Amino acid sequence: ANPAASNFVRGIIESDLASGHYAGRHDAQGQPLPQVITRFPPEPNGYLHIGHAKSICLNFGLARDFAGRCHLRFDDTNPEKEEQEYVDTIIDSVRWLGFDWQSDGREHLYYASDYFPKLYEMAQYLIRAGHAYVDSQTAEEMAANRGSFAEPGKNSPYRDRPAEESLDLFSRMKAGEFRDGQHILRAKIDMASPNMNLRDPAIYRIRHAHHHRTGDEWCIYPMYDYTHPISDALENISHSLCTLEFQDHRPFYDWVLERLAEGGYLQRPLPHQYEFARLNLTYAITSKRKLLQLVEEGIVDGWDDPRMPTIVGIRRRGYTPESLQLFCERIGVSKADSWIDMSILEGALRDDLDAKAPRATAVLNPLKLIIDNFPEGETVECSAPVHPHHPERGNRNFPISRELWIEAEDFMETPSKGYFRLFPGNKVRLRYGYVVECTGCDKDANGNVVAVHCNYFADSKSGTEGSANYKVKGNIHWVSTAHALQAEVRLYDRLFTDPQPDAGGRDFKAALNPDAKTVVSAYLEPGLAAALPEDRFQFERHGYFVADRVDSKPGKPVFNRIATLKDSWGK
Ligand code: ATP
Ligand code: MG
Ligand code: MG
Repeated sequence: ANPAASNFVRGIIESDLASGHYAGRHDAQGQPLPQVITRFPPEPNGYLHIGHAKSICLNFGLARDFAGRCHLRFDDTNPEKEEQEYVDTIIDSVRWLGFDWQSDGREHLYYASDYFPKLYEMAQYLIRAGHAYVDSQTAEEMAANRGSFAEPGKNSPYRDRPAEESLDLFSRMKAGEFRDGQHILRAKIDMASPNMNLRDPAIYRIRHAHHHRTGDEWCIYPMYDYTHPISDALENISHSLCTLEFQDHRPFYDWVLERLAEGGYLQRPLPHQYEFARLNLTYAITSKRKLLQLVEEGIVDGWDDPRMPTIVGIRRRGYTPESLQLFCERIGVSKADSWIDMSILEGALRDDLDAKAPRATAVLNPLKLIIDNFPEGETVECSAPVHPHHPERGNRNFPISRELWIEAEDFMETPSKGYFRLFPGNKVRLRYGYVVECTGCDKDANGNVVAVHCNYFADSKSGTEGSANYKVKGNIHWVSTAHALQAEVRLYDRLFTDPQPDAGGRDFKAALNPDAKTVVSAYLEPGLAAALPEDRFQFERHGYFVADRVDSKPGKPVFNRIATLKDSWGK
């Protein structure tokens, strides 16, 4: 276990392990069960986002650290909204994040829809035992009789109909005799409960809809609040972790499990639900509905647009799975809602990639530099470390020649105070090359600088003895014009300019950052032609970049900026 990642859930698990609460359990086949079994239960109705990553890292991380296992379970009880496409992308995203659901040589991938027959049978039991009834009120009547926080609800006139009658209606609901909403199966608990979730909650509704897995086999579907605890119990989940908004649902979670355990349908010890704070990330939105709006209105280029907070977007942006795990470890897990600053996510990426990413040179805003005393047509090989702290990773080589690309910002005809780079009369080092002295510049008819001139000192080459004789303050990067790889580079930034773009029901589209994507044609160190999709680099002085996994072609990579070297949004 990682002590840095301590959190309140770990404390709960440790005390359950100490008391042996979940010790000595066996599954239906008599196989011993681990004491800690968690699950990640997405509904396949959209793409996973950074908030889900928190839940994934928490659930799979606990299983890993406590020698347990974590199930991936699709909570697929809403036929209209769910699709196989979402199942596939969710599986992909969880795998990419670095987790799997194998344990004891078995795959622990489950679907709530596989439990439909058992859920139905258990509902029949609840009716027989007097714990559930078919209600035939209209939706309007039910809403009116539900009461409010201030006022108790009213019992349905159907609440005391005989169990036999409810059973008959329930089987006819299943047989397709009724239209949507004509009847509903409800738990019989307490219409006066201060907890609205206990005022005879619905457990089955009629929906004549095609399900992506069960097809047209069912026209009644179980509610999430009924399905979830039973799925947990059937899978022998010990610690069922969900976000805080489910706290008020926990009494019903326990009610369902207790009634079914009394009836012999479920085994003790029963799972227990714990709630943690959802992730709110600044400069991002995580509402599925609003993300869909960004995609549908063409504000972003699809679900995997590198500006999107979806896992597929974050992946395409260039984030590593390790950086997301590090981020989740750093933000921890608490019981109080809060906002996590985007800089923590970016910081985790920098900390992960600083140690790993090979260095490379990229000129993003090119201006020509001509070394007038450098022999025309000649080249000299220069070399630089792949990683400054890892000499064992070797060197990269690239030629210098008479004409180079430098950053336009590295020249000023009239320097401002404290400017140490190129200006007439000043010397700088061309990184990993020679020291040069600026002699002037060429301008076009409008007075724009189109080329800078300089002379080099042949005995100043980096790594040679003579180089020590040159003390210069400026050190600029460059690529040889004849050898550079021209490539599309996409400079991404935060999607919103407001830290809480949708807070208080504000129109989040008003806070879109118009500079969140800038595409430039850059000149890169020639060796980058060999970059493969998803290869990551630190472009010196610029930040961390990745070869786009979709648009890069052999010999022709397209790069995305993942993050700048330093936080430029700092407060
Ligand atoms: P929906 O509105 O469709 O219910 P959802 O975000 O709850 O969306 P689910 O697929 O139901 O999506 O979520 C799967 C799991 O991820 C749940 O256990 C949920 O609590 C957790 N989760 C969702 N959003 C966050 C978040 N922002 N932070 C932490 N966990 C989250
Ligand atoms: Mg959902
Ligand atoms: Mg949900």
